[in-house]
This record gives sequence, structure tokens and C-alpha cells, in this order.
Amino acid sequence: MATTTLERELGAVLPRESILVEGAAAYGSDETEGRGLRGRADAVVLPSTTDEVARTLAWCYEHDVPLIPRGGGTGYAGGAVPLDGGVVLGLERLARVRSFEPLLWRIQVEAGVTTAAVRRRARESGLLFPPDPGAGEQSQIGGNIATNAGGPHAFKYGTTGAWVTGLEAVIPPGEVVTVGGPVRKDVAGYDLKSLLIGSEGTLGIITAAWLRLTPAPEAALPVAAFYPGSTEGCAAIERVVGNGLLVAALEYLDGATLVAAGGSFPIERPDRAGFLVLAEADGSAEEAERLRTEVLEAVAEGSVAVHAPTEARTIAELWRWREGIAIAVGAQRGGKLSEDIVVPLDRLREAIDETLAIGARHGLPACSWGHAGDGNLHSTFLVASDDEAGLARAGEAAGELFELAVRLGGSISGEHGVGWVKRGQLARQWPAPALALHAKIKQAFDPKGLLNPGKKEADV
Ligand SMILES: Cc1cc2nc3c(=O)[nH]c(=O)nc-3n(C[C@H](O)[C@H](O)[C@H](O)COP(=O)(O)OP(=O)(O)OC[C@H]3O[C@@H](n4cnc5c(N)ncnc54)[C@H](O)[C@@H]3O)c2cc1C
Repeated sequence: MATTTLERELGAVLPRESILVEGAAAYGSDETEGRGLRGRADAVVLPSTTDEVARTLAWCYEHDVPLIPRGGGTGYAGGAVPLDGGVVLGLERLARVRSFEPLLWRIQVEAGVTTAAVRRRARESGLLFPPDPGAGEQSQIGGNIATNAGGPHAFKYGTTGAWVTGLEAVIPPGEVVTVGGPVRKDVAGYDLKSLLIGSEGTLGIITAAWLRLTPAPEAALPVAAFYPGSTEGCAAIERVVGNGLLVAALEYLDGATLVAAGGSFPIERPDRAGFLVLAEADGSAEEAERLRTEVLEAVAEGSVAVHAPTEARTIAELWRWREGIAIAVGAQRGGKLSEDIVVPLDRLREAIDETLAIGARHGLPACSWGHAGDGNLHSTFLVASDDEAGLARAGEAAGELFELAVRLGGSISGEHGVGWVKRGQLARQWPAPALALHAKIKQAFDPKGLLNPGKKEADV
């Protein structure tokens, strides 16, 4: 039974089962809870059709109620957190595969299908959907598109947006639009599809997507090389790139991350291991083997040990370990503030070392790991989620980190987006006319400012 006035009024335009009456608290946070962020929804709507999404947005627009779209709640920017109340729109019931045409390398899915489900479905037909953000069993395609999520294999294959050929979305004041479709090229009109990609629920609600797929590589062979520190490790990364070795993934972990996550590394961590480079060679069996040999040569100099498994079980073990790093790091202090700055590849070592220095200046243990080939660091400050003074210092440290990214010619966010936690930070990076255009685009899509208010704000 609907209980609050808001729920009762929404009940007049939606089926009863689409309004959540118990368990709304679970929709009050995302992965930023570990840094103390939590909100409260006035109502939670779980639509099962695009039409229900449109009716919800139309109702919110008519009644001046904020609407906060939510996917799997795995975001690190607080984008799905209802900080000022409003209606949370959870997309998990919108989870049908509308069409799958393996011979044409394409699939159309609704927004609530999980990332892992799309990848599995493609794999069963010998195809690959490459985007692989770390929490794939929980994150949804709609959330991946709304954040333009990356992941380890974005180095070779690009981020989620590169695989989206069309979108169905609901835009204010409650209209369903489609941009693009099952086509591989489309230059008609301004690129509204790309504006929606990465818009973090502030321009429209993505309800379905056409995705392109590619034949899955026959083999994927990882190489993990340990080094004494960032100087030797980053030199190895630059050698891989400089030698033209197009690996699928090129990852790194610094020494402090190795201490946090190294205990569960598939082999014993060698002495003097203060940095890890993880690359993956893929392609046909022959291509992958040749590339692996070249990678082994490129990473050898300065390394203290190399682990290069070739069996499916040990390869899977290595990637499972990689996926668990964020959790292992967070467990050190029961909370963490983790950012996702990007720098040009030749400034990576500086950014890794400077992350530690910033942490030390603020009295916080720090570490970083990430997508080295993309110059994308998960610079992290460890702090308990109930340590208010520590969280405040971590916030200041993050500010210095953003300054560093911009000074090095990079960006404040390469993956997680601006959301709530980085609101206003774009002003460090963009000139005033670009910020003004950013605000005008928001105004054009959402004149009442009711879609995910307070999120992705360029200037505050
Ligand atoms: C362990 C772990 C590892 C991770 N690794 C990576 C990684 O490697 N790369 C990476 O990029 N990210 C990574 N992330 C972050 C996160 O998984 C991604 O940002 C993901 O794309 C968020 O998807 P979600 O469905 O959980 O979205 P949510 O967290 O629910 O929402 C994220 C944002 O998208 C909006 N949104 C969600 N669904 C829709 C929709 N249908 N329409 C419009 N707006 C919507 C929300 O309002 C919010 O602003 C990781 C997270 C965890 C916990």
C-alpha cells in the first residue's frame, strides 16, 4: 500500500507494483557511502516500461518534484544519491533484451540489463561487448552509458560510448525520443546521442540502447610484471606503448595498493615489489602469443618478477584479483575517498608520486592504481566513513588532486563523472565560455532543473 502523499499521487498515474513502499532506504546511497554520502528519497519508482518512465517524468515536471535516475548504484560520484529528496527512479525492472542479432553483431537492450548479462549474452555467440567496468554484475547498461564507463579494456577498445549506436530516452517534460539506432554511422543532426552519453542522468533518462558488438578474440594472455617502484614501472608502460604493442589492457598498481591487495595475488608477492604493471595481449591464438612474447620483452627491463599465466583458470584468477582491488583497499580503514583523474601518459609517474605526497600533507594514507595506458589513476585516500575530520581532510586532498590533474594537462574525471562529489570542479579545467555552454545545454534539455539536480554542475 502506498503511504505518503507523494506515493499516493504517483499511484494515480502508475501501476501499484511500480511504486516501492518498503525498502526505500536501499535507494539512498551508492558507492560513495564509504565517504559518508547518504540521501533519502521521498518516493522510489521502479518502472517496467518506457511509458511508465515517461509518465513518472511528466508527473514530476508537472508537480516540480526532482527525479533522480538510478542504475545499479555502483557509481563513485554520488550521481544516484537523492541528497535533497525527490523521486528516485530505479531502472532494474526495465531489463529486457529487445533484440539480439549475432550475425549482424548487434543487440538492443533496455537500460536495466546488467553489464555482465550483456557481456555473457554476446560471449555465448562468440561476440564481445568490450566495456568492462569493475562492478559488472551490479552496474546496468543505462548507468554505464550515463557515466560513459570505462574499465581495463578501454585502452584498446574504448569506453562504453564507443559501442552505443542508438539510444531511446525520456526527456523533459516527459517525451520519448530515439537518436541513432541499429546503424554504425550517423552524422545527421547535432550529436544528441553523445550528449546523453556521460550526462549522468541530468539531461534525460536512458530507457534502451542499441549496442554494437565485435567478434571475441580467440585468446587473451595477461602479463603481470613487478618493479621496485613507479620509476621502473612507468618506464615499462612507456616501452609497451612506444614499441607499438596494442595490448587490450595496460593497468598498474602502486606499492601501497600492492600492500592492501597483494595478499590475495595468485602467486607469492616477490620481495622488493613496489609497483605492478598488468598487460593483456589478445587476438587470434597466434597473434596473442606473438604479442605476449613482445610484451614480455618490453616489460623485462628493471622488473623483479613476472607472472604470465597461460591457462584459463589461472588467467581468470588473475583478473578476479584485479577486480577485487577497490574492495581490498576500502577494507583497510573501512572507507575511502577514491578519485579518477586522468593525465597525459608521460605525466603518469608524476601523478602517482604526487598522490602519495598529497595524502601525506593531509595526514592520510594514500595509494593509487588504475588504467595506466589511458593515464587514468584511481588516486585514493584511506579514511573511515565515520571519521568526519578525516573526511574533511580527504576532501581537501581531493581538491589538490584535481588541481594536479589540470596542471599536468589532464582532467578531473576519466571514468566516474562529476556527480555530486565533483560538482563545480570543471571550472578548474574549462574556460568561461565553455562553462556557459555547458549550462545552456542543461537548460535546453531540462528547463526546470528537475533531472538529478545538483549533479554534474560545472560551476557552483
Ligand atoms: C568495484 C567497482 C569497480 C568499478 N570499476 C569501474 C571501472 O573500471 N570503470 C568505470 O568507469 N567505472 C567503474 N566503477 C564505477 C561504476 O561501476 C560505473 O560508474 C557504472 O557505470 C555505474 O553504473 P550503475 O548502473 O551502477 O549507475 P548508478 O551508480 O546507479 O548511476 C550512475 C549515474 O548514472 C545515472 N543513471 C543511471 N542509470 C541511468 C539511466 N538509465 N538513465 C539516465 N541516467 C542514469 C545516475 O543518475 C547517476 O548519475 C566501479 C565501481 C565499483 C563499485
